[in-house]
Amino acid sequence: MNRGYRKYITPEKNDSLKRARYEALYSDRRILEDVFPNIEKIEIFYTNTHKSIFGNTSKDGVLSFSRQNTAVFAIPCLNNECSYGWYYDLRDDIYNMRCEHLTEYCGEKDCQGQEAPDHPEQSCGGSLKYKINIVYK
Ligand SMILES: [Zn+2]
Repeated sequence: MNRGYRKYITPEKNDSLKRARYEALYSDRRILEDVFPNIEKIEIFYTNTHKSIFGNTSKDGVLSFSRQNTAVFAIPCLNNECSYGWYYDLRDDIYNMRCEHLTEYCGEKDCQGQEAPDHPEQSCGGSLKYKINIVYK
């Protein structure tokens, strides 16, 4: 999603777009061992941050995937009003790690969304720092 995509929308419209995006994301119900047969376990350690004029909030978390878990690697943006961003998808990082057989990778992403449904001119202010560990079979 780029800046050109941003526009004024109502909170209700944002909620329905967000819901549709999540439904699309989780419509792929394949589990880890189907998508990555050579991977035993994936762990994602992250710090989710949202910077705004009201202050900065931050939250640490861990996501753990074993062979039977659905292979969706999405972490919601910490900004409750985030529009057109909604979540960070770490799928590409994990695909790239597997290609190079990496066991550890650190990255950072800025949310590409807008700050709120009625603030199309303002970037979301959300960002995610993360470390991915992969255990191969
Ligand atoms: Zn966001």
